[in-house]
Amino acid sequence: MKEALFKKILIVTAIFLVSHLAIEVDSIYAQSNKGGYIDTHVHLNVQSMQRGEQQGGDKGPGFQKGPIGRPRFLRGGGQRMPRGTQTQSGAAANYDTAANQLLAEMDKYGIEKALIMPPPQIPGQRTVCDYKDLISVSQKHHDRLFLVAGGDTLNWLIHQYKPTEVTPAVREKFEKIAEEIIRTGAKGFGEMAVLHLSFTSHHVFEEAAADHPLLLLLVDIAARNDMPIDLHMEAVPEDMDLPEGFNKISPNNPPILHANIPAFERLLAHNRKAKIVWQHIGWDNTGYMTIELLRRLLETHPNLYFALRVVEKRQYDTAGRPISNRIVDDSWKIRPEWLKFISDFPDSFMIGTDNFFGSAIYGPGGQPLPQTMKETWSIVDQLPPELVEKVGRDNAVRVYHLD
Ligand SMILES: [Zn+2]
Ligand SMILES: [Zn+2]
Repeated sequence: MKEALFKKILIVTAIFLVSHLAIEVDSIYAQSNKGGYIDTHVHLNVQSMQRGEQQGGDKGPGFQKGPIGRPRFLRGGGQRMPRGTQTQSGAAANYDTAANQLLAEMDKYGIEKALIMPPPQIPGQRTVCDYKDLISVSQKHHDRLFLVAGGDTLNWLIHQYKPTEVTPAVREKFEKIAEEIIRTGAKGFGEMAVLHLSFTSHHVFEEAAADHPLLLLLVDIAARNDMPIDLHMEAVPEDMDLPEGFNKISPNNPPILHANIPAFERLLAHNRKAKIVWQHIGWDNTGYMTIELLRRLLETHPNLYFALRVVEKRQYDTAGRPISNRIVDDSWKIRPEWLKFISDFPDSFMIGTDNFFGSAIYGPGGQPLPQTMKETWSIVDQLPPELVEKVGRDNAVRVYHLD
């Protein structure tokens, strides 16, 4: 009983703190003459709307049948669409609804602009988001929503071919798709995945060499066109056993994770003109996303940028241990070592919440997945004024050419 009461008090305190911090974020936005914040990483999900599936239920709309007849899990928002939305037909109307949800949330947190993109997708997986559907959304809201593309097409090819299988014909195909993306006016390439862990049996595991020949090719294309690459990668400095708990939550995860940091450094060194934005910094699932590692990487690689993310579910990892290397403490206060780290590299950090908008998506047991908007933007408000503008806006404007 006592424990339950204590838990309740903790939850109420957390809700109060977070809503209080969100108000502070708004007030800073209102005072700014330079324009609002920029979120460099969000997704729109319309899958269950397109399929006309019922919301809720045992599995929830995040579980959808893939091409192999197995339900497949999609990550995301947890917000329900208004009644009646599901009867609308056509992807465009669904994307409109998802975009309006996103815009309403952006207004709430003082976010002026956001980059929308397909999540990283691989062969054997039904397309969850086609970047071509996002073009019209970004055109319709051309002053606020900007396209990043390749997660559905370029990432697919990187994971389809082993490094030794990349022939000139494969390279040509890859380059052709990249050129199509450039012609759309996209602001970057993404979401690309080097290591993406699976969180349920219906959620994909993705692993590719960070110096895969197609990624090296993408770096050259990105450099030529001054378009950054948006990257999803768990930190693995040396080969390691799958972190405890991940074998229990999904059979898709392999027992060994291969080192990716050495190859990632080769990717960064391959062409210094290419900017790489490593997303989800602060969301550490291997225990190796340490400030020490990240600091060394920034000191060595001037073309590397970090996008910060704080998730709602805060204290425990999949094995029930405290989450490693979090940016905030249990009171949502930014930890002094992170503040020092960000202050030491004021031009290298930005924000990428990785929140999904549109159809509701649920995790195992029908639980909504952790949210990130409020939690992530709350840390920006805690930064000193000169860092608020750089991390919240200016660095993203410069790297993605959003002015
Ligand atoms: Zn990601
Ligand atoms: Zn993402």
